[in-house]
Amino acid sequence: MSWDFETDADFQAELDWIDQFVREEVEPLEHVLGSPWNIHDPAFKALVKPLQQRVKERRLWACHLGPELGGPGYGQVKLALMNEILGRALFAPIVFGCQAPDSGNAEILAHYGTEAQKERFLKPLLAGDIVSCFAMTEPQGGADPKVFTTRAVRDGDAWVINGRKWFASNARYADFFIVMAITDPEVSAYKGMSMFIVPANTPGLSIIRNVGMADEPEATHAYLAFDDVRVADEQMLGAPGDAFVVAQVRLGGGRVHHAMRTIGLAQKALDALCERALSRHTQGGALADKQMVQEKIADSWLELEQFRLLVMRTAWRIDRYQDYQKVRKDIAAVKAAMPRVLHDIAARALHVHGSIGASSEMPFAGMISRAFQMGLADGPTEVHKVTVAKQLLRDYAPCEQMFPAYHRPTAAAAARRKFAAALAQGAAR
Ligand SMILES: Cc1cc2nc3c(=O)[nH]c(=O)nc-3n(C[C@H](O)[C@H](O)[C@H](O)COP(=O)(O)OP(=O)(O)OC[C@H]3O[C@@H](n4cnc5c(N)ncnc54)[C@H](O)[C@@H]3O)c2cc1C
Repeated sequence: MSWDFETDADFQAELDWIDQFVREEVEPLEHVLGSPWNIHDPAFKALVKPLQQRVKERRLWACHLGPELGGPGYGQVKLALMNEILGRALFAPIVFGCQAPDSGNAEILAHYGTEAQKERFLKPLLAGDIVSCFAMTEPQGGADPKVFTTRAVRDGDAWVINGRKWFASNARYADFFIVMAITDPEVSAYKGMSMFIVPANTPGLSIIRNVGMADEPEATHAYLAFDDVRVADEQMLGAPGDAFVVAQVRLGGGRVHHAMRTIGLAQKALDALCERALSRHTQGGALADKQMVQEKIADSWLELEQFRLLVMRTAWRIDRYQDYQKVRKDIAAVKAAMPRVLHDIAARALHVHGSIGASSEMPFAGMISRAFQMGLADGPTEVHKVTVAKQLLRDYAPCEQMFPAYHRPTAAAAARRKFAAALAQGAAR
């Protein structure tokens, strides 16, 4: 029997180091740099590279990876404890070599890449020398792959890709793209699409425009055009028709890692909410003394702790079973809960700060926008709730009787039958 909520002392020492390093060295970066993926910016090179080096020396680089890929192979529980610290700071994932979508792209290259693909794309990606892009969503729909139309057609020993991709994050900084395209339109979308690795300088690949989110310093989500983009046969990632099998490897882990970092961001909002409540005075007292403000603080803490426990348990189950299929329900639940937790806590923090809270001088509007983004990226909340419900329903069967066993008269009749002998003896006494 083991049921333990404690962190061992050695790892706690690492967490303490990470916490101090992130607060003092990494958090300030977002106030002086642009996008965390703009690794070619001279200011990025001057400020971020030395921090990445310190993380590597501390052996905390790319902790989501196993030793075979140069990481420590921490497992998800340790990652959760780390990621909830990194979630405070926009630049922390890139400083620690675990930023999306590169972390997921590295995972699928490691799983499905050929030796040549690993040498050319995975190695520099893991070293932090390049960043990458994942292009799956199309302008006519992201949540339903059956509406995708981007096609790759065979031509000799190459493939020619034509189509449009939408919201391809960090395309403008990426050295290569992992692209999902239909290779066999005769079969279902789930069996007829394949993955390709497309280097950024391939003729025919262009950015139509970059779309920005509310709180981003630079527009980084690309509307992409593929016009007769020619890629060699050996640039296919995985087998023909395997795009969904390949994509699942990156999405499962990616969703949980976002959730872990969301804990840190929501904690940052809660910290600000508490500090504000103690600092601001109105009607002769601190906001912290008003019961309606206390309710906001209490609700925020208990929602965050509930979410954190769900994330930690999901991390534990991933480590335990080593099979994303077995934890599908848990991951979908975490993904569905994440936007609401961040939204509600950030909204309370915004409100209790009054006018300045709603302004661009405070981070809360950006956090609320992030909450909405998290409810969309890697699939909308509705789709994940459907997964939770379907997985739950697998453990139930329909009732064959008119009245179910939990119907009180039916339950009472069953109880009388079960205890008939004892009840009769009791009555006889
Ligand atoms: C910050 C951010 C980064 C992203 N990065 C990438 C990236 O790098 N690469 C990439 O390929 N994509 C990326 N995306 C796109 C993302 O995967 C899609 O936005 C997502 O899959 C939803 O697709 P959509 O935007 O076309 O919305 P739609 O599919 O049109 O859905 C719109 C809305 O319809 C409702 N809905 C949809 N399906 C259902 C359903 N089954 N039941 C009930 N309601 C439903 C939901 O309310 C949903 O929000 C990113 C998105 C965001 C916000």
